[in-house]
Parts: sequence; C-alpha cells; structure tokens
Amino acid sequence: MHTLLNISPLPFNEIPLIIAGPCSAESHEQTLKTALGLNTNGIKLYRAGLWKPRTLPDSFEGIGKIGLEWLNEVKKKTGMLVATEVATREHVELCLDKGIDVIWIGARTTTNPFAVQEIADALSGHNDVIVFVKNPVNPDIELWIGALQRINNAGITMLGAIHRGFDTGGTHIYRNMPEWHVAIELRRRIPELPILCDPSHMGGKRELIPTLSQQALDMGFDGLFIESHCNPDKALSDSEQQITPSELNSLINSLVIRRQSEPNELLNAMRSQIDECDNSLIEILNKRMTISREIGKYKKDHDMQVVQTSRFDEILKQRINQAQEMGMNGDFMKKVMTAIHQESVRQQIEILNNNNKS
Ligand code: PEP
Ligand code: MN
Repeated sequence: MHTLLNISPLPFNEIPLIIAGPCSAESHEQTLKTALGLNTNGIKLYRAGLWKPRTLPDSFEGIGKIGLEWLNEVKKKTGMLVATEVATREHVELCLDKGIDVIWIGARTTTNPFAVQEIADALSGHNDVIVFVKNPVNPDIELWIGALQRINNAGITMLGAIHRGFDTGGTHIYRNMPEWHVAIELRRRIPELPILCDPSHMGGKRELIPTLSQQALDMGFDGLFIESHCNPDKALSDSEQQITPSELNSLINSLVIRRQSEPNELLNAMRSQIDECDNSLIEILNKRMTISREIGKYKKDHDMQVVQTSRFDEILKQRINQAQEMGMNGDFMKKVMTAIHQESVRQQIEILNNNNKS
C-alpha cells in the first residue's frame, strides 16, 4: 500500500543533505558564532530552536521571537537558509513574517493531530516554505504519515521527514531507540519523500553520532539533521549531544557515501538464490503447519488443550541455542519462533472450531 502525497523535490542538490546548528539559539553571539563556524565548514542550512518543548518547566524553554532577528542576521551574513521548530499557529505566523526558509515540526507536536492541523492551517497558501516533520515520540507510523498528509493537504509540497528515534520505555544506550524499520516502512509507503536522520536526538550522546550517521546513510537516508554548538559543554539545552562545527566537519568527511545498489549480474544471481531460499522457507513452514494441524486434530479427539507452554518453552530454548551456534542473534530467533508458534496455535484453534461446527 502506498500513500499518495504531492511532493516536489527540495531545492538542494547536496548528497547527503546536512542541516546543522544548535539545539537552541541562546544569545546573539552564540547564534552568530555557531553559524559562521558551520558556514566556514560548508554548511548551507542552519537550524536553531527558538521555542523549546521541554519536559520540565524550569528548563530553558527557548529565547523566543527575538531569535528570529538573529536568524535573519545569519541569513544576511552567510547566505545560509535558516530553519526553526514550530509548535503553534503563532510560531508559524512569526516565522512566515520573518522569512524563515525551513520549519520543522518536533516529535512531541507530531504526536498531537490538533496541533499539526493548526500548523497546517497557518501554513495554508505559503507553498514556498519547506517543512520537515519529525517522527512522533512513539513508533506509530500512521501518526507520522497523518501529520505529513495534513501539511501536504495545506498545499506544502516541499516536504521531508526527520527520523529522530522513539521513546519505547526502559533504559537503553540510545536516548531514542532507532527502530530503523519504521523509517524504512515510511520510505516504502512514500518513496518520493526525502528522509533525514537526526542522530543527535537519537543517540543523546555525542559519541554515538558517527555510527548512527553512517548507519542512516547506509540505509538510504537522504541526509542528516545534526546539533552543533560553538561551545557544546556550555549549551543551555542538550549539551551532551552537541558537537562543535569543526567536529561536524570531521564527521562529514569521515562518512562513506555508498551508491544505491543497481541490478547487475552477480547481484541478480545472489538475489535469485535468496528467492529460492524464501520459497523453501515458505514450503517448509507449510509442511510444519500441516503437521501442526494434525496435532490439532489429535488434541481435539483426546480433549487436550491447544497451548502447552512447557513444550513451547523447550522448543524456544533449543532453537535459540541452535541459532546462536550458527552466529544468528538469539532475539531474532525468539521472534521467528514466537511468530511461527502463534500461527500454529491459530491454526489449531481453527481446527477445533471447525470440528465443533461439524
Ligand atoms: C530539536 O530538534 O531540537 C528537538 C526538540 O527535537 P525532537 O522534537 O526530536 O525532540
Ligand atoms: Mn535538542
């Protein structure tokens, strides 16, 4: 299933596209100094948050509209295009009035369709603005696509998505879990939509940024949205995940830009082998289900319950061990076996119900 959006190409030809700048504009000096540092290193798109959605009310909540003047000065002095986050109609109106080129909708806002619709209504008729929509806080692709549709319905066609990871609960090395498959599904659903990765908010720590950035490019992301500050340790927000403009420059130079895989003879031959493996997998799964249905009949005839967790436990342990010995990930095998078991149970219950009817 594809989602139809009316997308026009973004007016940038850099590959990968880099948008960089501080988490927050904090002062005139910090905003200008960071921008000049980045521009000297070849960055053409500058981000800085003016209205910061913070969890706690006593945190730094952004400098507000005075920062629009600083961003305009950045534009004049460097020629860079400038970007900031909007969360309300008022933010949008101020940005439109002050000639902000690019706006983004933050993760917390994407989560709320009322807020997204308010932003869409305020943007209506301003189709020269470029809008990026960050993923919602939770890994709900429909909510993400819904927000993109609302903005697109308002006539904005220069549209992109930013993958910044998800809050999935628990503690992890990442601030926001990458859950790459969600972004891959977005690409499958809307192939023409540019997708950037925000390794800063995903990792939450500057050491994680290089690996996440490379992984994103290897998976076909179109660019990176990175936090950079002239003095990261003194940043008023997200200090642990910001890097200096020159660190950003080294990072960009270290990235390997791989080509999209193009069909060729060797690749095609290997892909046919994969197709054969998949066919065998489906056949063997069908064989397993046939046996499972036989067991279902036996259980029915002998008044036995369908689910025996002790047997499933035993199977799970064995298969995970076997898989790990072959170099596969135990969690992966657990997911595969759990999915197979679920289908087995479903089919056995179907048999039971059919027999009941007959
Ligand atoms: C940001 O980019 O500064 C920001 C607040 O990010 P997110 O919405 O991804 O938390
Ligand atoms: Mn931030």
